[in-house]
Amino acid sequence: MAAKIHILRSDLANKIAAGEVVQRPASAVKELLENSLDASARSITVIIQDAGKVLLQVVDDGEGMSHEDAVQAFKRHATSKISTPEDLEHITTLGFRGEALASIGAVAQVELKTRTDGEEVGTLVRVEGDDVKEVTRAACEKGTSVAVRNLFYNTPGRRNFLKSQQTERKNTTDVVTRMALSFPEVSWQYVSDGETLLTLTPASFEDRVRDIVGKKQFEQLVRVKETTEYLSIDGFIGRPDFVRRNRTEQFLFLNRRFIVNRAINHAVFQAYEHLLVKGAFPFFVLNLSVDPHNVDVNVHPSKMEVKFENESNIYRFVLSVVKRTLAANDLVPNMEMVSRESAGMPDARLRFGGSGPVAPQDVMGIPGQFDLDQLFRRNRVPGEGVAVDSFAPVLQRDRPDRVFPQETSLNAPHEGRAIWQVHNKYILSQIKTGIMIVDQHVAHERILYERVLASFENNLPSSQQLLFPQTAELTPGDYSLAKDLLPHLETLGFVLKPFGKNTMMIEGIPADVRIGSERKILQELLDEFRNNEHHATMDARDNLAKSFACKAAVKAGDRLTAQEMISLIDQLFLTTMPYVCPHGRPVVIKISIDELDKRFGRT
Ligand code: ADP
Ligand code: MG
Repeated sequence: MAAKIHILRSDLANKIAAGEVVQRPASAVKELLENSLDASARSITVIIQDAGKVLLQVVDDGEGMSHEDAVQAFKRHATSKISTPEDLEHITTLGFRGEALASIGAVAQVELKTRTDGEEVGTLVRVEGDDVKEVTRAACEKGTSVAVRNLFYNTPGRRNFLKSQQTERKNTTDVVTRMALSFPEVSWQYVSDGETLLTLTPASFEDRVRDIVGKKQFEQLVRVKETTEYLSIDGFIGRPDFVRRNRTEQFLFLNRRFIVNRAINHAVFQAYEHLLVKGAFPFFVLNLSVDPHNVDVNVHPSKMEVKFENESNIYRFVLSVVKRTLAANDLVPNMEMVSRESAGMPDARLRFGGSGPVAPQDVMGIPGQFDLDQLFRRNRVPGEGVAVDSFAPVLQRDRPDRVFPQETSLNAPHEGRAIWQVHNKYILSQIKTGIMIVDQHVAHERILYERVLASFENNLPSSQQLLFPQTAELTPGDYSLAKDLLPHLETLGFVLKPFGKNTMMIEGIPADVRIGSERKILQELLDEFRNNEHHATMDARDNLAKSFACKAAVKAGDRLTAQEMISLIDQLFLTTMPYVCPHGRPVVIKISIDELDKRFGRT
C-alpha cells in the first residue's frame, strides 16, 4: 500500500499556525508590536483602517533588519531571539517562537520595509498568502514598517468570524493601551481611520498610567510597591470606590509582558475583601518581575498565559502586598456629594456592598440632623468664611443644646482629638483631611471579630471569672448546640459547665462582655449562630466570631464617654480592615475638606 503520510506544504502549515497566533486584527497588532519592542524601538506608530480588516500597520524606529534577514523573517520558525534549548528556559524577549511573521504572511498581503543603521538603502519585501512576491532595495527610514492588508482574505471562514468593527477596534485599542502601559519609555501614536486616538511621549511609569487612565481617575489610585529577592511588584490599584463593572481595566504584566492569570487576579480581588460590591472589580495595573528562569511563557502560541514555578507563593505575595497597601492608605470610600448630576449614581452605601446604615443623605443636609448650612452661616467671618479646621469646635460651642444633647459627647478631651457622639449612634471626629463619621456598633463589631479570630488562632482565651456563677436555662436544641460548641466557646472566653437538664453554669465570660449580661449574651450568641448557619461558606469558628462580635458590640443607642469613643477609634484602626464590618457593612465614612469646600461653593 502506498504511503499515506506526507509533510504539509509550508503555506498550509503556516495557515494552520496562523489560526493560533493570529485570531483577529488585534493579535496581529500585538505580534508586530512585540517585534518592534524586541528591536528596541523608541517610537512606535500603529495605524488601522476599518478596525484593521483593511489595513493594520506598525511603524517603528528600532534596529531594523538586514536585506538577508528581511526575507528570512517570513519563514516559519525564523527567529533571531533564541537558538538553544537552554534559551527557552529564560526568555527575556517578548517574541521567541519565530512564527508571527510567517503566520501573518500566510493569511494577508504584507509589505515590509526595513533598514538597519549601517545600511544606506533598506529592503522591501512583499508577501501574499505565504508567497514572496517581491524583494527589492528601497529607500526608507531606519527601523521597520510592516503593513498588513486584507487580513484573512484567503481564509474566508476566519474573516467572517470577526466581530463588529467596534469590537475589533476595541480589541486593538486594548492591545495598544497595554503595550503603552508596559513600555512608558516608548512614544506611541495610534491612528484609526485617519483619526489619532492616542499620542504618548516617553514618560515615567507613573505619568504613563496617568496619561492612560486620565488625571481625574488617577487620583483614585494608590501605588503598590514591594521588592523581595524572588519577586517584585510595582503598580497602582484603585481605591475601593473606584470600581469597574468588568475586568477590562485590570492590567497584569509579568516581566513587561501582558498576561492573563486567574490566580493573581483573584489574589488582588481577594485583598479587597468586603470592600467591593458584588459584580464589581478593582482597577489595577501591576508589574510583576521574576527571574525568567522561574516562569514558563511557552504555554500557548499567544504567549499570554504563563506558568509560574511557584504560583501559590506569588498568590500569597500579591494578596498580602495589596492588602497591606489598602490598609496603609487609609482607604475609606470618600463620600461624594449627592449632586443632581450624580443622583442616579450608586451612593457610598452601594459601593460598599451590604445594606450599610449610613447613606450620604443621612449625614448631609437632612433638616433636624446637622444643620450644617445654618451653623456655618452663623459663624462666618465676613469675607473669610469658616476655617474648616475650626469646624468641630464651632459645632459644640454654638449649638450644643440642639446638635449634641449629651454631656458625655461634648468634649474633645485631647489636643487634636475633637470627637462627638451623634444620636448615641455615630461618632463624629475631625481628621487631617476633613471629618470622619464612624458607626459605633459596626466599629466595635470589627474590633471584637478580629480579637476573637486572634484568640482562636493563638488559643489564648481572654476570660473574666464571674464572682457569682450564673445558670442559664436553654432549650434542648440550644443546650446541645452549646455543648457541641463548647471547645470553641471556651476559646472565646466562656467558662461553661453543663449542669444537666438543659442548663449551663456560666462561670466565666469573655473579657469584652459586660458583667450582668452574661445570660443574655450566651442566648443571643446561640440564636445568631443559628441564623448564620444558612450561610454555607461560614465555618463554625467564623460564625461564632461573627455572632459574638455582633452581639457583644455596643449598640446603636448606647451612650459612650469621650474616653470610650477614643479607645474605640484607636482600636478600630489597629484592625486589619477598619473600613468594613465582618458582614461587609461600612464602618467609616469620611468627608474631605475638598468635598466640603465644593459643597460650600469655595472652589
Ligand atoms: P519572533 O518574534 O518570535 O522571533 P517573528 O516571526 O515575529 O518571530 O519575527 C521573526 C524575526 O524577524 C525576529 O526574530 C526578528 O529578528 C525579525 N523582526 C521582526 N520584526 C522586526 C522589527 N520590527 N524590527 C526588527 N526585526 C524584526
Ligand atoms: Mg515576534
